[in-house]
Amino acid sequence: MKRRPFTTSKTFLPAAYAALLAAVSLFSSCRPLIPVETKDFIMGTVVSQKVYGPDAKAAAVSAVQRMRQLEAQLSFFNPSSEISRLNASAGITPVRLSSETLFLLRKSSFYAKESGGAFDILVGPLVRKWKVTQGGTVPSKEEIAALLPLADWKGLRVSENGDSAMLEKKGQMADLGGIAKGFAADEVLRIYRAHAITSAVIDIGGNVSVLGKNPDGNPWRVGIQNPLAERGITAGYVEIEDRSMSTSGAYERFFKSGGKQYHHIIDPSTGYPSDSDLTSTTIIAASSTDTDALSTAAFVLGCEKGMRLVGQIKEASAVFITKDRTIHATKDLHHTLTVTDGFPIIWH
Ligand code: AMP
Ligand code: MG
Repeated sequence: MKRRPFTTSKTFLPAAYAALLAAVSLFSSCRPLIPVETKDFIMGTVVSQKVYGPDAKAAAVSAVQRMRQLEAQLSFFNPSSEISRLNASAGITPVRLSSETLFLLRKSSFYAKESGGAFDILVGPLVRKWKVTQGGTVPSKEEIAALLPLADWKGLRVSENGDSAMLEKKGQMADLGGIAKGFAADEVLRIYRAHAITSAVIDIGGNVSVLGKNPDGNPWRVGIQNPLAERGITAGYVEIEDRSMSTSGAYERFFKSGGKQYHHIIDPSTGYPSDSDLTSTTIIAASSTDTDALSTAAFVLGCEKGMRLVGQIKEASAVFITKDRTIHATKDLHHTLTVTDGFPIIWH
């Protein structure tokens, strides 16, 4: 028997089309659910991104390029970075800088002032002496005393409307380690938006920014590390959309010497790793540049003063974990924060 050609069946055609259309629409509605995921080492830390949408690949590639560019521009360790040029000219001459570097220097001065000097990018010489990220050495009391006067944020002079900045004293050094990764996360979100991405998450070493909602329609769920437990064990999570979250913790980077643990966040008033009642600080706000600076500042300030600082900044929320195992959180997080590890909570 001669088989009728496939396309000549009058009844089959509409059914085939319907099936085909259903398959196509099913396929296209599923497609955004497969994210582009990357993991890189940039700015001295692990960077991971998860990006959904038709242009996700290109957006993720541009984001990595931008982060590498910012690393080259802002790194304290790269001798040809803008920051190294600024540091090399300390006490000598103003240096012309890009508008982004100037923006970050101005932001740093703002947070230095707001935090009463707890956030101070001029801890650079002390950071170099402690070498926490390169294995670490405990400096002598005399060495700390000699470097302490250099850690004074007022020594950073940024021209009001111009394009230059200068460090007042010879030997002063700016280190943007407490704010640059946050800025990079803001830049990555800008790139995602330019690629019409509506759902993504970027994590730059503890600075997590989320765009839109999770593709399943729910807010993004972001874990908060339990600073008193192994890495990967969380103390709770927050459910957020279009927000940035930064965490500073004693557990992030440290070394041990003589049975003591020394971490990477320096109290500019003592020259030693800060020793407040806190063991981690998480800040949530619209901009990652702000959350990054605030989390570092609050970590140094301790719970009470840190909460006061957060209260001064519009729409910033906080989750602090104390050394004695209590969570302190701002009241606005009542419906956002879930604690999973039996920590008592005190609301502020
Ligand atoms: P974060 O991990 O964002 O809390 O930033 C910590 C990093 O910021 C350190 O590794 C230093 O590079 C730098 N830093 C250390 N202490 C301070 C401070 N008191 N203010 C500003 N930056 C700091
Ligand atoms: Mg920070």
